[in-house]
Amino acid sequence: MLSEDKAKDIWQQVLKQLRTEAGETVFENWLQFLNLESFEKGKIIISVQSKFHKEWIEPRYGNRLKTLWKSYGQNIENVSLAVNENITSNLPRRFLKEENSILSFSSPLDPNYTFEKFIVGPSNNFVAAAAERISESDEVSFNPLVIYGGVGLGKTHMMHAIAWKIRSNNPKRKVVYLSAEKFMYQFVRALREQDTMSFKEQFRSADVLMIDDVQFIAGKNSTQEEFFHTFNALVDQSKQIIVSSDRSPADLEGIEERLRSRLGWGIVAEIHQTTYELRLGILQSKVDDIKNCDIPKNVLEFLAHKITSNIRELEGALKRLVAHSQLVGRPVSLDTAYDVLHDLIRANNRKVTVEEIQKKVAEHFSIRLSDMSSARRARAVARPRQIAMYLSKQLTSRSLPEIGRNFGGRDHTTVMHAVSRIESLMLEDSSVADDLELLKRNLDN
Ligand code: ADP
Ligand code: MG
Repeated sequence: MLSEDKAKDIWQQVLKQLRTEAGETVFENWLQFLNLESFEKGKIIISVQSKFHKEWIEPRYGNRLKTLWKSYGQNIENVSLAVNENITSNLPRRFLKEENSILSFSSPLDPNYTFEKFIVGPSNNFVAAAAERISESDEVSFNPLVIYGGVGLGKTHMMHAIAWKIRSNNPKRKVVYLSAEKFMYQFVRALREQDTMSFKEQFRSADVLMIDDVQFIAGKNSTQEEFFHTFNALVDQSKQIIVSSDRSPADLEGIEERLRSRLGWGIVAEIHQTTYELRLGILQSKVDDIKNCDIPKNVLEFLAHKITSNIRELEGALKRLVAHSQLVGRPVSLDTAYDVLHDLIRANNRKVTVEEIQKKVAEHFSIRLSDMSSARRARAVARPRQIAMYLSKQLTSRSLPEIGRNFGGRDHTTVMHAVSRIESLMLEDSSVADDLELLKRNLDN
């Protein structure tokens, strides 16, 4: 049997050896916090203070740890790594201080959102290249990086991948990742607790600041102002800023001009709608991760063909199929795919465009299609035009400026006005509501 003293003794030797082999930097950043957790019946458990540490250490030093233990001690069956978050309490002050400050603003990262699991295709290869470039070097070559694109196309995945990569390349860099919503929440809290000084100081001590879904701060003026100042302070110190947004900076409404123009200083990279090949590639890589489930190739092709809206829905469809097949104990086939997913497939078929809306509305009111973009203000054309703008806002994912551009280069405020005008008319005038109902039904088919 291994006595406590003996175990501790071996552990010291193992650590010493690791230190020599791994070098001071790696030891200081990662390995010095390894802790001998328990050693019963030849089963050694070594703990680390976070999942993040475990995921970094395990593939690099896991096997070496085992070999070293076995070479120093007899009857050692098994050596494993576990997470024990309490270890932080034993950390040196230097580390503790950091944990309590800026890093506590950072949101946890999803271990699945890595570069390895991000499939690259024509719609996202530019973003992927810019992201890899940023993650590989400590030097700032462009600032900021703005990643934009529609929902479920991989913005958050890409942000996490960058954060993981920077952290593993250089654990000393303070990478702070959070959503714009959380940024606002922290800011409001600092205001309430009259502690904006330390809020400012802390954010300004980040080496890399990543803000997800920045469109959230549109129209929120004091948060925007604070973000703008943080942004400038960090850029001045050559610190990296990365933001994501659901639309391009040019199309962000409710964002002050000066911030909008700052966002365009570096690289603005779009994640486009997916292609069939990318969808198929992603499905294939996900299927490889699922155990005990065979999915025929033609089903994957069917999904990639039918579920085109975004990758989140595509993944959701695959999960539903797998869950269904496990529940009923039948293999996945084209028939079951169609059965289980018909609602999703129907929703994906329906993709109305602004042009279709304009055409249908013009027909409905017997006006010329060209009047949708003409300057005529007569009520007989202005009202249908407003209705078409309203429907474009409701039924497509176009932004107000994009819609405005489709209506003869009108300003987004004109579209906004049209939307609220039609909303109130619908309440006042039932014939307007009926027209809209009819139009919507027509457009749905
Ligand atoms: P967004 O933040 O743009 O709304 P997410 O990053 O949350 O989208 O992505 C939605 C889902 O799709 C996630 O599960 C993500 O892992 C997956 N996904 C997106 N793009 C890719 C890709 N290129 N390769 C693999 N998975 C992807
Ligand atoms: Mg997201």
